[in-house]
Amino acid sequence: MIVNLMRRASFSAAHNYWLAEHSEDENRRAFGVWAARKPHGHNYLVEVTVSGDVDLNTGMVVNITDVNRALKRWVIDVLDGRYLNEEVSYFRRNAPALENIALFIWEALANSLPSGANLTKTKLWEMDTLWTELYKESDGAMTASLTRSYDFSASHRLHSLHLSDDENREIFGKCNNPNGHGHNYTVSVSVAGDPDSKTGMIFPLDELDKIVEEEVLMPFDHKHLNLDTPEFATINPTSEMLAVVIWQKLARRLPTSGGTRLHSVVVSETARNSFEYRG
Ligand SMILES: [Zn+2]
Ligand SMILES: [Zn+2]
Repeated sequence: MIVNLMRRASFSAAHNYWLAEHSEDENRRAFGVWAARKPHGHNYLVEVTVSGDVDLNTGMVVNITDVNRALKRWVIDVLDGRYLNEEVSYFRRNAPALENIALFIWEALANSLPSGANLTKTKLWEMDTLWTELYKESDGAMTASLTRSYDFSASHRLHSLHLSDDENREIFGKCNNPNGHGHNYTVSVSVAGDPDSKTGMIFPLDELDKIVEEEVLMPFDHKHLNLDTPEFATINPTSEMLAVVIWQKLARRLPTSGGTRLHSVVVSETARNSFEYRG
């Protein structure tokens, strides 16, 4: 009986994106708008997942108090309140991008967890709209992903051209209102791949922002999806189809296989439901 067990902890730290051995131009090229000589700070939130067989004597995989103790000793006490670039030796060699901080946490914990606890995932948030996940696939391979979430507001009418008016009313109810209704949408875009050895980033964040701005936010924000966008002129704009259409639009700008690739698109119409498409 394999059970996954999650534990969260938080820490505050400062960092900056600047490689001293590189010129100003090289730093601007590597880090884009995030290049800065002076540090800034974040309240980080980390969630570690450990997996293991339930011990029938105790009813536990492992004592979660021991997981928390290792997390505190090897991660929180080392990172909390620090200027990562200068005060944590690991980040003198590795740029303190979110992906590398997650890797640091992985390496710090992998061999210090109590026996029986197998580290399978670390998830690290820099803010509500930016997080990274590092996890072990079932075949043992490691995958790293970076997710950025974006908001836009749009109206739509759920109405399928393949159904009669009666059927549309029956299936979509008030969402079939002829004049539409609106949502504040959230779109979370994940890219997976190996962090760049110099910048520590899987994909340059300002480039991802630019692509999403051009492919998603500009065309959809403050629009009536059915009436104002060619994408949904004939497609029923459900959240499922929105996830698929956004994936297809992003896939024209990002690879979908190989090294750095588009990994997942999640669309939320309300906080209560979300729809994920992975191509
Ligand atoms: Zn930062
Ligand atoms: Zn709706």
